[in-house]
Amino acid sequence: MQTKVLIIEDSRMAMNIIVKLVQQAGLEPVSAQSLTEARHLFANTIPESFLCAIVDYNLPDAVSGQAIDFCLQSILPTIVVTGRMDAKTRSNVLSREVVDYIPKENAQTYDYLSRLLGRLERNKNIGIIVTGQDRSSARHMVSLLKRHNFNTYEAATAEQTHQLLRENHNIKVVITGAELEDQNSTALISSLRADYAKEQLAIISVCERNNDMHSARYIKSGANDFLLKPYCHEEFLCRISQNIELIEHVEALTNMANTDFLTGLANRRFFFEKLTSRVRHQADGHALAMLDLDFFKKINDTYGHDAGDEVLTTVSGLLKHHFDDAVVARLGGEEFAVFLPSTPPKLAFKRLDTFRRDVEKQTFRVLKKAYNVSVSIGLLTSMPVGLNAAVTQADNLLYQAKDSGRNRIASDIMAVQQRLQSVM
Ligand code: GH3
Ligand code: MG
Ligand code: MG
Repeated sequence: MQTKVLIIEDSRMAMNIIVKLVQQAGLEPVSAQSLTEARHLFANTIPESFLCAIVDYNLPDAVSGQAIDFCLQSILPTIVVTGRMDAKTRSNVLSREVVDYIPKENAQTYDYLSRLLGRLERNKNIGIIVTGQDRSSARHMVSLLKRHNFNTYEAATAEQTHQLLRENHNIKVVITGAELEDQNSTALISSLRADYAKEQLAIISVCERNNDMHSARYIKSGANDFLLKPYCHEEFLCRISQNIELIEHVEALTNMANTDFLTGLANRRFFFEKLTSRVRHQADGHALAMLDLDFFKKINDTYGHDAGDEVLTTVSGLLKHHFDDAVVARLGGEEFAVFLPSTPPKLAFKRLDTFRRDVEKQTFRVLKKAYNVSVSIGLLTSMPVGLNAAVTQADNLLYQAKDSGRNRIASDIMAVQQRLQSVM
């Protein structure tokens, strides 16, 4: 079901712009031109399928923000748009627990609204730990963060903070204070930094202005940012958002660097980076397969490069489907690798053979011509220590599969069994 956004706005022009922004964000606008109309739309409370509300501060039947209260009573994150932005209106808006307010000034502010909508949607998958704060500060922070759809966690000790991070991989920010029950916050920051890079986890220190520790000490211990109390709530949320955006940019770049553009599979670089250390000292029990499409050049030559690309993406889709618990990569051209962790030889063989048959069964079409492809596989089930050695051995098996007729698996299973029998 599509997520909805309630818009309460009497100006036709502003309504048109906001509706478009909401649609562009992939959300469904539900509009009301007055508070009365909004009340009519919902018998009781506003349902959970609503992501947020965008509400005009000044409506003909609600001249000083009563429509905001209507939305907040339904615990709906509320963004206020307003034509007036004098100090009184601003403090009136901010005295309510709104997400943010946006002056109806120019295109820039609508751009801000559009980014805010995207943020609210993504925040549902982001966790933030609040630690080292007194009760009332913590309560205030948690309430601000919840309004922005974050998942919040509270920790009283450094140990709890580490445990929360181990158990909840959605956590991207830790907000610390000066002291925790079991250690001071610089010790927590440096211990967190030992486990999580700055691009992975943002640590933000929020401390009293008269705190005798210089704020630079937090940054030197590994914090990403700091904020002094008392802070205004916009500044607090802007710092959080900026730090999260930085982490997201790094994640996006890392994903791009690790992913094959055509097929969406992991690329060679990721495959080697991920597995090199894993099989450096101990490789027993895992299996590694090298796969190569048969006579693929002929498909390009006969049906064109686009048809070849379609074969590559379809076969990659089958690989993802069959081996979603494994590490699968496109090593280059029409060559793929599958690393099956802790898989007995016979099971590895069976799974790869089921995949091979599925590839064989797949029919492709260009204009009215139908054609098929097949794949040859080298399967190594007795892995040597060291990834390069394992890849070379699996490659040799792949050549055997090609040499002995293609569309088949060559594996070391027979050799392994013979070796085992001769020992017994
Ligand atoms: P064999 O059965 O011995 O593996 O023969 P083959 O034709 O599959 O092997 P060969 O290495 O001679 O040809 C591989 C071809 O794959 C050549 C290259 O043009 C094509 N290729 C590599 N990358 C891509 C790609 O991204 N898209 C398309 N369409 N073709 C590609
Ligand atoms: Mg080939
Ligand atoms: Mg090849």
